[in-house]
Amino acid sequence: MKKKLLVIGAHSADFVWRSAGTIAKALEEGAETLVIALSYGERGESGELWKEDPKRSVESVKVIRHAQAQKAADIIGTPIQFLDWGDYPMIINDERVEQLTHIIGDFEPTVILTHSEKDPFNPDHPLAFQATQRARLLSSGAGVPSAFKNIDPPVWYSFEPHQPELCGFVPDTFIDISSVFEKKVAAMAFMGAQSYLKDYYTELATRRANHARRISGKKEIKYAEAHQSQVPRVTNTIF
Ligand SMILES: [Zn+2]
Repeated sequence: MKKKLLVIGAHSADFVWRSAGTIAKALEEGAETLVIALSYGERGESGELWKEDPKRSVESVKVIRHAQAQKAADIIGTPIQFLDWGDYPMIINDERVEQLTHIIGDFEPTVILTHSEKDPFNPDHPLAFQATQRARLLSSGAGVPSAFKNIDPPVWYSFEPHQPELCGFVPDTFIDISSVFEKKVAAMAFMGAQSYLKDYYTELATRRANHARRISGKKEIKYAEAHQSQVPRVTNTIF
């Protein structure tokens, strides 16, 4: 079975914190991956750059954020596409949902990873969730032949938000990212506009690994990322 992972982040660094390990692991397993950054997070998620120089232009922040995310993607080994939709606020309209629908239809992912449905601390993350939800349904149809090209419905997960409990995030899938964690650390190191998050996400990976070890008995898990499935999974066997 083909393995194709599409990761959709509202801002250009979201994929690094929340899913760099999962992406690197998928690549290690021979999957094809694609990251979509809906915006650069130039206004709301580039704190260090604005602290450095409050008078700099939004355009100059976008250039830096593009370069940082591109470097992180290169380290992980995944292609990344920037849609430049703007952030804080992100505007979702029919045209943009159609653009995302085309991307999903062209890439034909078997798995989609995006934000959680709720995030009381971020105005754009739930919008990215909604746009992804709608585009996924528009590209896969109702599971029957349709008047348009429809792909098999991709498995769909939310990656872990910054404050999981307050976002209603309940992890049900843990990915062992121990073998690729060095890549995640290297990718995080390039996200200079949000360097305050590097230690936090390293700590989180060790805590999630603790949970994964307890759940599975797999003592070798040192680092893990947690996700929440949004649709039931269909498998050939209970095992
Ligand atoms: Zn974000």
